[in-house]
Amino acid sequence: MTFTATILTLYPEMFPGPLGLSLAGRALEEGLWSLDTVQIRDFATDRHRTVDDTPAGGGAGMVLKADVLAACIDHARALHPGCPVIAMTPRGKPLTQARVRELSAGHGVTILCGRFEGFDERIFEARGIEEVSIADIVLSGGEPAALMLLDACIRLLPGVMGAPSSGAEESFENGLLEYPHYTRPVEWEGRTIPEVLRSGDHAKIAAWRKQRSEQDTRSRRPDLWERHEGARDQSASGAQREKKDLDQ
Ligand code: SAH
Repeated sequence: MTFTATILTLYPEMFPGPLGLSLAGRALEEGLWSLDTVQIRDFATDRHRTVDDTPAGGGAGMVLKADVLAACIDHARALHPGCPVIAMTPRGKPLTQARVRELSAGHGVTILCGRFEGFDERIFEARGIEEVSIADIVLSGGEPAALMLLDACIRLLPGVMGAPSSGAEESFENGLLEYPHYTRPVEWEGRTIPEVLRSGDHAKIAAWRKQRSEQDTRSRRPDLWERHEGARDQSASGAQREKKDLDQ
């Protein structure tokens, strides 16, 4: 089954863009995923093919019209009924590797890209649309955010990455940042590769990597570390509870 990416956008020429190269590009050629772009403007109903209007209440910028968006979304849903529709918005739920994994295990994803000030708010509830943000930053449009989301999904599709295990050890997969990497030469500008990585002792190497992964997460991303520790405490107390139940 091919993973289908459907992009609802005012700039279909931006796709596949960088996803036409390298790992994702090869996978696209091999049919491991497919791309469908839909021009939002094709769903405008007036002579000028208007997609936006001034914000109610006044202020700068333009807002994408709910009626045009709805017609476009309904069209995409009819084409790909099994795919969730996700709107890229700075106020959406922050994207996580866990959500990326869920999406890549499905039939595909339909992504709605905003422009200008964004979308008429009524579209989200009216069409049951998930909102996703890629970071606490403001882009000029949803297209680069869609490319990012897709890139993250595509590399997880079966057959896309060389070694199937190489996805499992990456940052965030276990709630932690990945340990640091080194490669030859052993000495470079007076800096050497940590001794343990040259020891050939796989147990020691694994222990060093785990320790570095935890240490780096704690210092670089205290937010991730806290969540990781919370999850660990919870599963530990869950296991204790289960054991108690069994003992009784
Ligand atoms: N007025 C909005 C910003 C609109 S930016 C606000 O202040 O929140 C225009 C479009 O770019 C948005 O509709 C959205 O589709 C996209 N975009 C901008 N930043 C984004 C982000 N961090 N994540 C996902 N999409 C983003």
